[in-house]
Amino acid sequence: MPKKTSTVDTTPDFEKLLWFLPLFMDPTFKSMINEADDYPEYHPTVGAFCDELAKKCWIDYDYMSRDLTYLNIENANLALLKSYLTSIWRRERFSDGHIASMFENGLVVDILWRLKELRDIAMTDGKKKAAKYINDYMRVARSDNTIEIQVEMIEWPHPHTPTSSWHTIDKLDKFTSQEVIDEIVEKTLSDKRYFKVCNECNERNPVGHMHDNKICQSCAENNHGIVY
Ligand SMILES: [Zn+2]
Repeated sequence: MPKKTSTVDTTPDFEKLLWFLPLFMDPTFKSMINEADDYPEYHPTVGAFCDELAKKCWIDYDYMSRDLTYLNIENANLALLKSYLTSIWRRERFSDGHIASMFENGLVVDILWRLKELRDIAMTDGKKKAAKYINDYMRVARSDNTIEIQVEMIEWPHPHTPTSSWHTIDKLDKFTSQEVIDEIVEKTLSDKRYFKVCNECNERNPVGHMHDNKICQSCAENNHGIVY
């Protein structure tokens, strides 16, 4: 069955939310600008923050069923942080001033801080993975006059026995800077002629380790009973 495609990007946009962190960490920041009134009047930045939280990528529609009383933000995962973030602005509907109290007890800053940590971890993991693919399947061959960027191609001329060979994908002048070389190597990782991302495990694979255009051989074996 074809997968349903959605036009809504549900990937959390960390940067847009983390933009607020230094502002909220400022000790002079006050979430309420008029505390005397019967109902709270919030700082415009808080309004902008809540608009961001109301985006689909940050909403947990099920936040009411989660236990959000035990505060363990330091170790919270993304799902739990989304529940907290949703509860911050949704609960204001039932209790005026709820958002202000979440600022006062430090919860908003703690959540954003934990989000920043998770973002940093994901970025480091992404870089490590890219470095591993480059290390495993790519090489830079230098000769007297040229630098060749090569990628290892895996082929299956016979079942069960793959062969591999190095293909030159770019030939550069020997004076080419390391920066330019690194850029080409990195771009190659997202070149579908050489690497494809598996729809099921989301891992990048050399095309020779793909079962077809969509799934990798490991997923074909593990999920579909195909034997390599
Ligand atoms: Zn896979």
